[in-house]
Amino acid sequence: MTSPPPKSTAVQIAADVAAGTRSARSVIEEHLAHIAAHDDAIGAFNLVTADQALEQADAIDAAVAAGKPVGPLAGVPLALKDNLCTKGIPTTCSSKMLEGWHPPYDATAVKKARAADAVIIGKTNLDEFAMGSSTENSAFGPTRNPHDLSKVPGGSSGGSTAAVAADFAPLALGSDTGGSVRQPAALCGVVGLKPTYGRVSRYGLVAFASSLDQIGPIAGTVADTAALFEAIAGYDPLDSTSLANDNDGADATSAGTATTAGTDTSTGTNTNISGLRVGVIAELSGTPTKGVTPLEGMAADVLARTKEAIAVLESSGAHIDEVSVPSVRLGLSAYYLIAPAEASSNLARYDGVRYGNRVAGATSADMQIATRNNGFGEEVKRRVMLGTYALSAGYYDAFYGTAQRVRTIMLEEFANTYENFDVLICPTTPTTAFDLDAKMQDPLAMYLNDICTIPSNLTGHPAISVPFGTGDDGLPVGVQIMGPALSEARLLQVAAILESAGLESDGLEAAAPATPDLP
Ligand code: GLN
Repeated sequence: MTSPPPKSTAVQIAADVAAGTRSARSVIEEHLAHIAAHDDAIGAFNLVTADQALEQADAIDAAVAAGKPVGPLAGVPLALKDNLCTKGIPTTCSSKMLEGWHPPYDATAVKKARAADAVIIGKTNLDEFAMGSSTENSAFGPTRNPHDLSKVPGGSSGGSTAAVAADFAPLALGSDTGGSVRQPAALCGVVGLKPTYGRVSRYGLVAFASSLDQIGPIAGTVADTAALFEAIAGYDPLDSTSLANDNDGADATSAGTATTAGTDTSTGTNTNISGLRVGVIAELSGTPTKGVTPLEGMAADVLARTKEAIAVLESSGAHIDEVSVPSVRLGLSAYYLIAPAEASSNLARYDGVRYGNRVAGATSADMQIATRNNGFGEEVKRRVMLGTYALSAGYYDAFYGTAQRVRTIMLEEFANTYENFDVLICPTTPTTAFDLDAKMQDPLAMYLNDICTIPSNLTGHPAISVPFGTGDDGLPVGVQIMGPALSEARLLQVAAILESAGLESDGLEAAAPATPDLP
């Protein structure tokens, strides 16, 4: 350990900086030193933006000194997944294809975070174009899990979740198309929220599968997650799928009895969930009940922690019942047709003319083939081929059409389920973090990581992963809370209860995963 981790929450840092008791510059310098000492071993960052961060910090300190108001995230280091456009700062999607590309604009979420005076400290590693579950499909090499360097951090936002777990930044942004915020959050022992589709503008998020993509906040605590969500949520005329009637700022710290956000009482203080109807998804709960055979592959330790989390909610006054959502079984198959189909269309823009890399060829077609062959990695090529095949004439209805019908059925089933339940609970991932290289030769095994997270992307509903204890290997376990559209405030409230139970318990096996000792 060459430098102590700068351990404070985003909320605390912002309060200290606004009060003038801590300078934004000192906060940034401490975090930069910590990154310099330890990121060689972890590989969370593709780029550290030290100069810009210090410049931004000085401007915040000057505002505080002049008695001017500062934003709610004043001086808080923020790590950005490297598929979020940053004006003038390289944005690579961890792909050779975008080498040397400097976006001409900022993503709306980036702009909003900066307007809240969060300080962008760097761009984090991801699976190329966000396709993967381990952050190993990267032109920058893999990111390692700060809790155990022989393990993956999950993906595709593994650089962002590793950065938060290693205390390189209290806050990070990721993107979640099939679980890429929640799955790595679970594996790294941090909190990750996938907001309702349309709640956070996708403008400036490099597109993977546009009907599923959503930017989400990642943090060490539920309160910090809520603070970042509030800063980035809201209607944006630059994203045609942005929710028009959203209350700007989303008021995520408020969770009343209504299932929509923007209603009273703070998540931090309101632990009253008396009468809350919590459904345990039978297909993902491991034990055969109500004639449902659960899906295979869910590890016993992960299921045990989830049961303990359910017990905590029950003792806090929630009504617990098992519920079957049969289409959950089909989610993975539907997703792995819809997402590659959309990706094959979205990635057609990398033609050697408009962005980044170009490899010369005798004709323009040769140039395009050579450029795409050279610029894309194996997994991206696999997705483009799968997607093109699923959309081709003669197969379109059998593959893409069937997947879309499954999506509709799933949406109906969840809508019906939410008539009887306020939230649903299940593990975030089937297992704790796995070894580097363990699944790289077996794409199907890799895809199975997303079995619990994909349903919320197909329905567009929000879901959160909150750390809850550790597995038999001592690595973090994440529990997922899902809810209907616009129920973020409710999800944050339930997550906060599980978080404080984890922190308070000592007899219970569940506890917040310990801060990792970094090399
Ligand atoms: N792991 C999933 C995939 O590979 C999800 C990725 C994501 O959410 N960006 O597609």
